[in-house]
Order: sequence, then structure tokens, then C-alpha cells
Amino acid sequence: MSAPTVMWFRRDLRTADNAALAEATAAGPVVCAWVRDPALLARRHHRAPARLAFLRDGLVALDADLRARGSRLVVRTGAPEDVLAGICRDAGARQVVHAREVSPWGRARDARVAAALARDGVRVDAAGGDLLVDPDGLPGSSGHGYRVFTPFWSAWRAFPIPAHVPAPDRIDGPALAGDDPGHVADGASPVPAGAAAARDALVRFVRDGGADGYAAARDDPAADATSRLSAYLRLGMCTAAQVGRALGLPAPLSPGREEFWRQIAWREFFHHLLARRPDVARGALNPALRDVAWADDPAGLAAWARGLTGYPLVDAGMRQLAATGWMHNRVRMVAASFLVKDLHVDWRRGETVFMRALVDGDPASNNGGWQWVAGTGADAAPYFRVLNPVRQSQRFDPGGAYIRRWVPELTRVPDARIHEPWRMTADEEAAAGCVIGVDYPAPITDHAGARERTLALYRDARERAAPG
Ligand SMILES: Cc1cc2nc3c(=O)[nH]c(=O)nc-3n(C[C@H](O)[C@H](O)[C@H](O)COP(=O)(O)OP(=O)(O)OC[C@H]3O[C@@H](n4cnc5c(N)ncnc54)[C@H](O)[C@@H]3O)c2cc1C
Repeated sequence: MSAPTVMWFRRDLRTADNAALAEATAAGPVVCAWVRDPALLARRHHRAPARLAFLRDGLVALDADLRARGSRLVVRTGAPEDVLAGICRDAGARQVVHAREVSPWGRARDARVAAALARDGVRVDAAGGDLLVDPDGLPGSSGHGYRVFTPFWSAWRAFPIPAHVPAPDRIDGPALAGDDPGHVADGASPVPAGAAAARDALVRFVRDGGADGYAAARDDPAADATSRLSAYLRLGMCTAAQVGRALGLPAPLSPGREEFWRQIAWREFFHHLLARRPDVARGALNPALRDVAWADDPAGLAAWARGLTGYPLVDAGMRQLAATGWMHNRVRMVAASFLVKDLHVDWRRGETVFMRALVDGDPASNNGGWQWVAGTGADAAPYFRVLNPVRQSQRFDPGGAYIRRWVPELTRVPDARIHEPWRMTADEEAAAGCVIGVDYPAPITDHAGARERTLALYRDARERAAPG
């Protein structure tokens, strides 16, 4: 029997459409491994109980899938270079295979692991990845990639969808000791995890008309009409290629499906951006807005995080996040904008709050979303676009169904007041059983004044950054 290959799973918790696993099994016996890396889990954005529980359930599902194919997932804890060296020694393996990762942190770790294992005579190969197109595949006209989404989308959209790679029927290899994947985290996952759950969600979304109706319904937070695939994509329980094939690509798509595919491109766009510009993880992409004099407002930040700002749509979103680990995209935009442009709190503070709560929390997409909203990032839209939390609420949750679902104090507030409950008369408050300032907060800031302050803060930062 030839020496086994170690398949190192990371953000690719699936057996089908996994080029690295296919390559490993084609070479002979395989040991499937996942490394619990305390250094990664201790990072500020990874202390996220909901996401960890989802990860744990994903590992349990992957282990079950591997067992059905004659293998199992060997889980061990430590620095990946040490753990993998140990697994290679125990198995007599001379090769490790993993999917390519483009994040700066992932790339640095992979280089470190490859160098360490090379010293033991073990070769490390990367195959496939969690993006449809790697940054190297879309260099852009300047060779530095894209900073604006629309040209990225045109180039990305033309890229062919790779053919389906079936899961290996059998995976043979030595049985190694490891920890129980079920012990990786405590608590319940807010959503079912694993490749089978991801496939169910994708099939349902396409079969039941969600994809065709996406363009019309995606901005209605009460309709719950989006795919809910984000957490699965985050950990590679499904891939963009699988989504593309389920939509029917390369055949022409209905407008709804096309709009949905465009959102998948946003995810890849932000991954490319972070890969090429690792500095965006710490500061503004736009150099003119690196030095905004943000407010130090712990009380405002806490009220925002707890859904107690007095602005119903913002509060509904933050409470949905706390209760479910997920928030609708339109409401993410409104809630994030409120923190940055109504409370003038540094977008990086909000980025961290989101990362610790989101089951789909992803450094690239979350950073991209926050910088987009703050107007500091890669976007053709100007920094002075400030979302009005009342108008957004009137437009996207006109009947207040989403607000009432997440802010029960406002359940009986009349439609005419649901977006601005502070305008209720005393009689209306009594009828609604909701006294503003007692049962539900009065607005913690005045939007019109806050908007002017934002414009002044950004103008000052731009002036400071201007040469001369
Ligand atoms: C401030 C802010 C923070 C965000 N943080 C994250 C995050 O940490 N992780 C994350 O996956 N998404 C993030 N998003 C993007 C978006 O809100 C979520 O991807 C989406 O709400 C997930 O729900 P869904 O799967 O039902 O999305 P759908 O509407 O069904 O979209 C399908 C898929 O496209 C991708 N996608 C959609 N919109 C975006 C977008 N604007 N940017 C990047 N990818 C997108 C996601 O992978 C999503 O699963 C953020 C957006 C904002 C404004």
C-alpha cells in the first residue's frame, strides 16, 4: 500500500466538489484531518459562540459523511504545523493536501505550515478553493485587481463554472486517534450545519421560486426571501460553483437568478479585495478617510448593540442578530449606517460586534460591508450617502411587520407611527400599551443633526489627508 496523504480540511467542510479531497483520494490512502488552532480561535473576531457551534455541527456532519465512506475526521488541537507533523508521523504520510485560501491570515499560515513540514520532508499541495475565481484569475487591467464592483462583476460573470466533482465513494487509510469533533464548542447552533443542510437550503431556494423571485423580494426583511446560504458558503459546506450550477448556469438566467448570482459575486469581490489589500482589515481603504475623529460613545455603542436606540428598524435588526446570529442584508446596512453616521462610532467597533454575533461572520464580507456603509471602502457611491433610518424603515418595512416581529414593545403601535413611535400622542401610547421613554426608548440621537455632524467629520478628515 502506498503512503497515505493527509487531507487537511479548513473552510471546505464537504466531500463533494472538493478538488483537494479528490486529489488526495486519487493518490491512494487518505487521513482526513481538522486542526483546532487555539491561535485562530483566540483572535478577536473569532470569539463567536454561534459560529463556533455551527462549525462544531459542521465537523460532526463531515465526520459522519467520511465514516459512511470508510474514513473519519481526525480532530487534534495545536499549532497546525505541529499537529500536521504529528499526524504525518503517526500515519507515515509524506504529503498534505488542502484547499487554497486567499485570506492574508490563511496564506501566511499555509506558508508557515508548508515551510515547517518541508523540513520533515513532507510536501504540501493546494488544490481548488472556496472561491469560483481566485484573485490571480482576475488581475484587472492594471494587474492589481478591481476596486470597483461593476467591472469586477463583468469579468467574474464571464468565468466558466467548473464541472461537478463527485464525492469519493470510499476513502481508505489508517485509523488515527483524535478528539471528538462534538467537543469543539458548547451551545446550540442557530441553524443546521453540514453539506446536506446546505444542499437542502439551496435546492429549496431554487425549486420553490426563491431565486426567480429574488430581485423583487430581497430587500423586504419581513419576507425572509433570501437564500440563507451565507453560513454554508462561509465554511465551504457549499460552494459558489454549486450555486451557479443549481441556478442553471451556463444557460441564461431569469432576472431574479441573475440578481442572486450578482450577490455571490459581491462575496468574491470582497475576498479579492482583502487578499490584495490586507490593510483593509485594520483601516479604511480610502486614504482620505483613514483619520476620521470618531466619537468615543460607549453608551451609544451599548444601546445600539442591545437594540435600544429608539429607531425601530435599527433595534429590530440588532435584536434579530442577538436572537438568531443572522440579520437581513438591508437591515445590516441600516444598522451599520446608524452606528457610523448617526452615532459617529468607528466602523471597526461595529465590525467586531457583528463578527462576534454572526453565524456567517466572515472577515472579508463583513469588512467589505462595513467599509461600504461607512463610505471608506471600495464603492463608486460617495461617502456622503447617509441612510435615513426612518425613511429606510418606511420604504422596506412599510407595514412594520419586521419591526413588530423583533421589537415586541411596538406590536400594538399603529402603522402610521411604527417608524417614528416617538410621535405618538399620549392617547396613542395608552392604546398601544407603549409609553416612549418607559416601555421603549426615545431616539438616542436626532438623525438630521447627526447627518450634518457626519459630513463635517468626514470633511475634516479629508482636509487633514489632503496634501499641502
Ligand atoms: C455591514 C454588513 C456586514 C456584513 N457581514 C457579512 C458577513 O460577515 N458575512 C457574510 O457572508 N455576509 C455579510 N454581509 C453581506 C450580507 O448581508 C449577507 O451575506 C446576507 O445577508 C446573508 O444572507 P443570505 O445568505 O440569505 O443572502 P442572499 O441575499 O441570499 O445572498 C446570497 C449570498 O450572496 C453573498 N452576499 C450577498 N450579499 C452580499 C454582500 N453585500 N457582501 C458579500 N456577500 C454577499 C452571501 O454569500 C450570501 O449568502 C454583510 C453586509 C453588511 C451591510
